[in-house]
Amino acid sequence: MEHPLYIYNTLTRRKEQFIPLHEPFVGMYVCGPTVYGDAHLGHARPAITFDILFRYLRHLGYKVRYVRNITDVGHLEHDADEGEDKVAKKARLEKLEPMEVVQYYVNRYHKAMERLNVLPPSIEPFASGHIIEQIEYIKEILAHGYAYESNGSVYFDVPKYNRDFHYGKLSGRNIDELLSETRRLDGQQEKHNPADFALWKKAAPEHIMHWPSPWSEGFPGWHLECSTMGQKYLGETFDIHGGGMDLIFPHHECEIAQSIAHSGHDAVRYWMHNNMITINGQKMGKSLGNFITLDEFFNGSHKMLSQAYSPMTIRFFILQAHYGGTVDFSNDALQAAQKAYERMLDGWKRLNELKPAGTSTVNVNDLDRKCHEAMNDDLNTPIVIAHLFDACRAINQVNDGKATISAQDLEQLKKTFGTFLFDILGIYDERESGSVNLKPYEEAVDLLLEIRKDAKSRKDWATSDLIRDRLAQIGFDVKDTKDGFEWKVK
Ligand code: ZN
Repeated sequence: MEHPLYIYNTLTRRKEQFIPLHEPFVGMYVCGPTVYGDAHLGHARPAITFDILFRYLRHLGYKVRYVRNITDVGHLEHDADEGEDKVAKKARLEKLEPMEVVQYYVNRYHKAMERLNVLPPSIEPFASGHIIEQIEYIKEILAHGYAYESNGSVYFDVPKYNRDFHYGKLSGRNIDELLSETRRLDGQQEKHNPADFALWKKAAPEHIMHWPSPWSEGFPGWHLECSTMGQKYLGETFDIHGGGMDLIFPHHECEIAQSIAHSGHDAVRYWMHNNMITINGQKMGKSLGNFITLDEFFNGSHKMLSQAYSPMTIRFFILQAHYGGTVDFSNDALQAAQKAYERMLDGWKRLNELKPAGTSTVNVNDLDRKCHEAMNDDLNTPIVIAHLFDACRAINQVNDGKATISAQDLEQLKKTFGTFLFDILGIYDERESGSVNLKPYEEAVDLLLEIRKDAKSRKDWATSDLIRDRLAQIGFDVKDTKDGFEWKVK
């Protein structure tokens, strides 16, 4: 590979050169949303982080199969094995069928992701669509002796697994502390140890989402869906598994334990985690009143926002920080991001208007190498953005007549700038999309009719009729008036 890519592996705690198992194919799994409410900032960051990875791997020439799941069952209120299912609770409160809740929020999630220019994954499997696979997965773990049945539920035997392998290797948690922790929760007596987690839960009579299994009428544990669907679509061992840092424990730690208990080896080569987002220095949370959905950002309706922030402002803002560092949202920071985004697009526009000279007095030839180096250093998007701003300064110098650029350098600069800004960072010009500026088109029609008027005055009836007839065919209604002409779209 011409440009070796290094990524930080959470499991080994160091940057490693990315070498796919089956070049040129890359398998990548990212934990998707639990669909019981609108997408918020916490959803935007992993979606954008792994969108950048997806785009960059494809740019490097890999054929990427990107799987991002939809959690529509088994994610309980307390993220552990207790509490009501989040989707089922919403369905009960809204008097809806659970799948109505799921469909509604999946549609809204897709819409928000599209506005953020997050590419759709290759496969988007639903947990509820893989109950049979999950039951088969549990059977294997039971057969290998790392799970037990208790009162119709099946639990993963953490102490036994930890004697043979290492539970806690991803999160670095001290297993002895975990195992000695005692928690008093309903149904706790079903577990042999408080650290054990559910693979299958027997459904309580009021629980509306349940399926038959060899153990009980019930539903799968939350951690299981990702182990099952990851290996189903990407193979027993695959390249990359990603998600937010908040998922490292217990979700991803449990995934590792499940896959080792199931297959005898790790399923994942590189674990990647994006850091969290804070708002005015505080963690996001419903109780703190700072839980801002993406739609509220886009229309500015939340009381903490002093204005609306467009999807590209949010995207640009997130990309101005490395995915491994925290990001703090504030109105000031977002307004600065909006200005920076606009400045970048102005630079691109100016670049496309530059006239080449015989020689270059600006040095822009190393932009491509520098941007690749930044991306290859664990997807360092803030450095890429800094390099593009350096290029903007050179563009301005040429534009102001203080420097020159050769035709060859100009072409190369356009190619590099466009590739990194649009294809890899996934930025687009919101000012030009959505509401189309019709003025240039109107002026073009006026121009044609001016030419026709001129032709008529020269008695060039052929040209005059040609313009009138062709415009009529295209759909314009043209009328000659005393002073000239009038037109409208038919
Ligand atoms: Zn997951």
